[in-house]
Amino acid sequence: MARIVKKFGGTSVADIDHIKAVAERVKREVDAGHQVTVVLSAMAGVTDQMVDHTRRVGGLVDDREYDVVVSAGEQVTSGLLAMTLQDMGVPSRSWLGWQIPIRTDGVHGKARIESIDTGELEKSLARGEVPVVAGFQGLGPGNRITTLGRGGTDTTAVALAAALNAERCDIHTDVDGVYTADPRIVAKARKLDRITYEEMLEMASLGAKVLQARAVELAMKRGVRLQVLSSHGDAPGTMIVHEEEVMEKQQVSSITYKRDEAKITLTRVADRPGVAASIFGPLADDSINVDMIVQNVSADGKTTDLTFTVTRADLQRAVASLENRRDDLGYADLLSDSNVVKVSVVGVGMRSHAGVAQRMFKALADEGINIQVISTSEIKVSVLIDEASTERAITALHDAYGLDAE
Ligand code: ADP
Ligand code: ASP
Ligand code: MG
Repeated sequence: MARIVKKFGGTSVADIDHIKAVAERVKREVDAGHQVTVVLSAMAGVTDQMVDHTRRVGGLVDDREYDVVVSAGEQVTSGLLAMTLQDMGVPSRSWLGWQIPIRTDGVHGKARIESIDTGELEKSLARGEVPVVAGFQGLGPGNRITTLGRGGTDTTAVALAAALNAERCDIHTDVDGVYTADPRIVAKARKLDRITYEEMLEMASLGAKVLQARAVELAMKRGVRLQVLSSHGDAPGTMIVHEEEVMEKQQVSSITYKRDEAKITLTRVADRPGVAASIFGPLADDSINVDMIVQNVSADGKTTDLTFTVTRADLQRAVASLENRRDDLGYADLLSDSNVVKVSVVGVGMRSHAGVAQRMFKALADEGINIQVISTSEIKVSVLIDEASTERAITALHDAYGLDAE
């Protein structure tokens, strides 16, 4: 008998027929003698709709009430699955975040899990029930409902797997594993049997939404065995593993993209010590994350252009903050552009191979695609390009690194 946590994403619980299919799958595991805890997302599209409702209220939305609204979808699916399981003769009950409770910090909209009290869940499992846990939600300070950031049900599942000492955490979704690139964009993308935690964490942070980055981070830290697989059928998916378990390290194992970027350029900023600190310090104080940064060499020794990226959601706030401080910062113009995309190549083998970045730049040059900003880390190279070139860039890079399926 194994103890398993199984998470099903939005498309896997999109309607009653899909929920019945999930229930049948869970029943099969229970019949095979396994102890299963299920974690569910809201029906596909429902969270987006809730977010849209809050936007249409207008004005400054109270982020505590935002969480009350956007967490609603998971309550519906968890209740429906528990009912369906009961109907099939499998004892089951639903659990909302506050009922367990899953305690989080108070950062509404992207709260972090601080602790999970497994006492009641353990009792439920001991009674032979299947707990169906509403993902994405927790209980913050002052007993307020919190949410864990978009895609956060993955993190609920991993956190529960760690807390319950589960043997494995299965993430069931609408693709049958982790691919060398988003299979919806690259027709020749290949499914990977294994990928390292580190690569998966980079991929997730760089836009591959198949797993939420925090879920991977937590799995890595707590040693949770994580698998991504389809909601249908029994084919094995992709195992997330430690680097030692991968024999042959690919230079580049995947290509990812993130549309959620916007570029800001400040022209003719004074070229003197302390300027970067005075620009980025107040942005950080406002919780605006700055991602890629390039500063041009100063032609006259006095001024320089500075370009950086923020998320699209933060663009307006960042621009307002910089405009308010225009007199102090003393730049000439502020230019912003959200028609950009960040494309990245990721691979642990990069550490021991030279020329990875060069191959990327050449492949993009051959396609006539201009690189606006570059950033690198030990196992990734990212470039910012015009959004209209996204598919062409990813397809060309996939080919250039020999990742295309035959
Ligand atoms: P769920 O609702 O099940 O959480 P998501 O939509 O969050 O599913 O994540 C699955 C999607 O991730 C896939 O439909 C796919 O388009 C996308 N995706 C992006 N990059 C990759 C990749 N490298 N491998 C697999 N899927 C990817
Ligand atoms: N329903 C939430 C979202 O759409 C959480 C999740 O599905 O993981 O972001
Ligand atoms: Mg997801």
